[in-house]
This record gives sequence, structure tokens and C-alpha cells, in this order.
Amino acid sequence: MTNAERAKHQFTDDDRCPLCADSVEDIDHVMRKCSAIFPIWILLIKEDKLDEFMSMEMKTWIRINLDNKKYFAKVSEEWDILFGSILWNTWKKRNSIVFDSPLENSSSLLERSRRLQTITFTALEQEDARKKG
Ligand SMILES: [Zn+2]
Repeated sequence: MTNAERAKHQFTDDDRCPLCADSVEDIDHVMRKCSAIFPIWILLIKEDKLDEFMSMEMKTWIRINLDNKKYFAKVSEEWDILFGSILWNTWKKRNSIVFDSPLENSSSLLERSRRLQTITFTALEQEDARKKG
């Protein structure tokens, strides 16, 4: 639950983003607009698609990134896995601050996500190889 939702249900009186402390934390902010994540999207998203990427309705945004690897990403290879890894690691990092449980190492969000992308890709390849016998 984001801090905007937590505040609405009176679980907290601070609805600000724990990553930047600069804005109300809703899901659009934490996954796209936060200063902790936006530089990563600038790096990875095609320049002419960035406005659309940043403003698209959330469910459609997730669906397109998972289903159509070439639509937004500069490098489309394994984009679906990297995209999911970035969202997961953003949420993990945010939770580590909200619930005061520091992450075990201090590598960047993008480094963590690329590592998870590699691990996932390798596991999927091994699974394919195993199925083929
Ligand atoms: Zn933020």
C-alpha cells in the first residue's frame, strides 16, 4: 500500500514518498515519476516515447511493457523481465525505508534489476533446456 493509501486508512499521517520526500506517494509517483526512478526510465525508454510512457494509464502501461517489448524500450531484448525487475526492486527499496529494514547491499536499483533480469533469464533458459531434454 502506498503512503497515499496508508494515510487515507489512517495507518500513517505522512503521505509523502519515502524515496524523495518530495511528493505524495501514489502508485504513479513511486513507479514512474519519483526522482529515484525517473532517471532509470530516461536511460531505458526511447526518447520519442517517453511522454507516452510517463502518462499512460497504469494497467495499460504494465500490459504494454510486458507484452510488447519493442514499444517503449531502447533495448528490447528481455525488456519484459527487466521492466518487472525494476518495478519489483523499486517496491522493495521503498518498503525497506517505510518499514525500516535496510537492504542487504547498497547497489543501485538498476544494478539490482539487471542482476535479477540475468538470474531470471538464465533460469528460464535452463527450464527450456530441461523440457527439451
Ligand atoms: Zn518520490
